[in-house]
Amino acid sequence: MSRIAYVNGRYVPHAEAAVHIEDRGYQFADGVYEVCEVTRGYIIDMSRHLDRLDRSLGELAIAWPMSRNALKLVLREVLRRNRVRDGMVYLQVTRGVAKRDHPFPGPATRPSMVVTASRIDPAASRRNADTGIRVITVPDNRWERVDIKTVGLLPNVLARQQAKDAGAQEAWFVDASGVVLEGSATNAWIVTKDGKLVTRQADTGILRGITRTTLFDVAKKLNVTVEERDFTVEEAQSAREAFVTSATKTVMPVVAIDDRPVGNGHPGSVAQALREAFFDVAEKTSA
Ligand code: PMP
Repeated sequence: MSRIAYVNGRYVPHAEAAVHIEDRGYQFADGVYEVCEVTRGYIIDMSRHLDRLDRSLGELAIAWPMSRNALKLVLREVLRRNRVRDGMVYLQVTRGVAKRDHPFPGPATRPSMVVTASRIDPAASRRNADTGIRVITVPDNRWERVDIKTVGLLPNVLARQQAKDAGAQEAWFVDASGVVLEGSATNAWIVTKDGKLVTRQADTGILRGITRTTLFDVAKKLNVTVEERDFTVEEAQSAREAFVTSATKTVMPVVAIDDRPVGNGHPGSVAQALREAFFDVAEKTSA
C-alpha cells in the first residue's frame, strides 16, 4: 500500500510529497513539530501535544496553519489513509515560503504544514523494552531555548550518530557540572535505591516531554514518588534503574551508561511497571 502525506492542504503520495526550496523550514529550520504515538488505533495524549504545539508556535510567533479542530481532522485523516494503528503521526509547521531573508516575511506568508504517519511494530518495541538500551553521554552544545520543539535538531542528530557509532541507542546531553539534561530525543530518568523516580526539572534547559508529563500521572496511580531535580551521570550510573521517555519509546529501560551497567545490567521492574500502566493512564483519542 502506498503511503500518503498531507502537504499544505493536499493529500499526496508520500514519494512525491515536497515543499518549496525557499520554505523557511528548509532554509532556516524556522519551524516546529510534534510527534504523537499511535497505539491500537488511538492517538495518545493528543491534547497535550497540541497544547505544546501552541506554545512552540507562540514562542516563535508563527500563526496556527489552521484551527485546532481542523488540525485534529488532518491527523486522523493521514492515519486513516495510511492505515496506521500502531506507530506515529508527525506534524511540522514552518513560517512558510518566502524569499530568503532573515527577518520574518510579511503577514501574507502563510505557514506551511506537513503531516506524515508511519507504522511501528509493537512487538519490536516490546522486544526493545525487554532488552533495554545503552546510552552514552555528550556535552550539551545546544542553544538555550531547547524548551521549544523546533526542527533545528543538528546537535541532536550529531549526538545520536555518536551514540550509534559507539554501539548505543541514545545520547544524554550533560552540562558542564556533569548534570544529565535529557536525551537527543528523549527525557532522562533514574530510580533511586529507595524507589523514587527522579527527572530533571522542566525549565528552558530541556524539552518538557509529553510522555514525561503523563508519567507523573502514571507514577501517582502506582503510588511512586517523583522528584524533579538535577542528577549527575555518576548518580545515574549507580542508580537502581534508569530509563528514557518519549512518544515513540514510551518508557524505555536504560541498561548501561557510558558502558557502565545500571543496576544488574537488565531492565528494571519499576520502568517495566510504568511502561505497562502507561496506556491505561494516557489520554486516548480514536484515530
Ligand atoms: N527531549 C527531546 C530533545 C526530544 O526530542 C523529545 C522527543 N520529541 C523528548 C525529550 C520527549 O518528548 P515527548 O515525550 O513529548 O516525545
